[in-house]
Amino acid sequence: MATIGVVGAGVMGVGVAQNLAQTGHDVVLVDIDEAILTDALATIRRNCRMSRMMGGPALDADEILSRISTGVGADTVAKADIVIENVTENWDVKREVYEALDAACQPETVFVVNTSAIPITKVGAVTSRPDRVVGVHFMNPVPAKPAVELIPGYHTSEETVRRTRDLLGAMGKKAIDVKDSCGFISNRISHVFMNEAAYLVYEGVASAEAVDEVFRSCFGHPMGPLETADLIGVDTVLDSIEVIHEHYADPKYRPCPLLKQMTEAGFTGRKSGRGFYDYDGTSGAGGSPAATGGK
Ligand code: NAD
Repeated sequence: MATIGVVGAGVMGVGVAQNLAQTGHDVVLVDIDEAILTDALATIRRNCRMSRMMGGPALDADEILSRISTGVGADTVAKADIVIENVTENWDVKREVYEALDAACQPETVFVVNTSAIPITKVGAVTSRPDRVVGVHFMNPVPAKPAVELIPGYHTSEETVRRTRDLLGAMGKKAIDVKDSCGFISNRISHVFMNEAAYLVYEGVASAEAVDEVFRSCFGHPMGPLETADLIGVDTVLDSIEVIHEHYADPKYRPCPLLKQMTEAGFTGRKSGRGFYDYDGTSGAGGSPAATGGK
């Protein structure tokens, strides 16, 4: 079976690496330093142990971790057949990563872009292989979600789409085809929800709890938009809505200042222990800018 490089070991990279390993793939997981990678492996072990309790399959953490090796730098994935990139949703960061991957990897290696909004054609253009660059918008948490958006860029070849579809099939994912467009289907819609929900809290119209309760109790959604923002990462939601706002130059995507303030305060959601809600019990929701409208 092919060796898969997973670049970026944050919220998504951890989920992609686990999903690949639990479906029998050898994975090389890469980030910018060893400490992040150590944390990532610990998160995978914890997620495997909790899998059954969260409604997933029983997983053998040791067996899954035995298929994942780690390293720092693009050279670590030089021999991978496919690289799935999951670094920060920021164009300058992604561009540098693709320039390094393009120089390090074999010419036939396919690059899969996991992004919330950045157009795939734009990513392909900074490589020497735009025909082997394709977008896959994975959903979070990756191992639990049955479908992804599959986004070929302008130059992506049919062979690249076929190889990617095969890999997704082997990971247990259904691919939903979308043309290349900033934000694709999911985030053109969901990020407007989350951004507008943040404005409701920012303007003092309602608490985060009330906003989410409307979505759960009135619309039957399993989670409200602000709980979802905490799950995704408030910083990642802000980065994504900024990408969409800049791309379309349309004021309907204007990022809510509360998302900026929360990101600057380090209230990035579940991954930091605090966001619109408190996850580490160190303070009540009243202590966060979210609860005070950010003012
Ligand atoms: P994150 O902030 O949790 O993790 C990003 C990781 O990338 C960090 O560990 C960071 O150290 C690493 N990184 C940064 N520069 C790097 C480099 N040069 N080389 C290697 N690693 C580097 O972000 P995330 O939530 O995992 O998002 C990753 C990507 O997936 C983003 O493009 C995001 O838009 C997209 N995405 C996120 C979600 C979500 O729910 N969080 C869902 C779908 C897609």
